[in-house]
Amino acid sequence: MTEEPCQCPDCQRFYREHDRLIREFPTLKQQQELNWASLQSFRTLCGKVTEDLQKKLSELEAHNKEGNEDNHLSITQLNESINELENINAYLFSIEALMEKIFETKVSDNIEAKFKEIAGELAPDPLNIDRIILNRLFHQTPDFPDKSTNTN
Ligand SMILES: [Zn+2]
Repeated sequence: MTEEPCQCPDCQRFYREHDRLIREFPTLKQQQELNWASLQSFRTLCGKVTEDLQKKLSELEAHNKEGNEDNHLSITQLNESINELENINAYLFSIEALMEKIFETKVSDNIEAKFKEIAGELAPDPLNIDRIILNRLFHQTPDFPDKSTNTN
């Protein structure tokens, strides 16, 4: 008896995204580049938000010296958020060190072909790609005849 995979909306979204990333990035090189870019964008965004929160915190603390107690809660919240984000940034930094090792590996063209072959089996195209592109073009064409005019 095989166990059915969970079909809740979150899991379904995950399966779709998982398959899409295999379908659209079917080689080792593409997976390396995708994950490197994903990690770096995550680091950049988290780092900038942390910096911004730290700036806000020091501004609030400067005001608080003048005796304004209303800001107390937001200072606590800011401190907690900054701590959490700093933890994430530290983990991301560790992952980057591992990812660099993964990024260094290169395989020959016939191994890349094997990646593509297995990717095609794991995540076969749900719709013909030409049809999807055509569909998009139709939706973007403003003077595409409206169906309702035909039925009038
Ligand atoms: Zn689920």
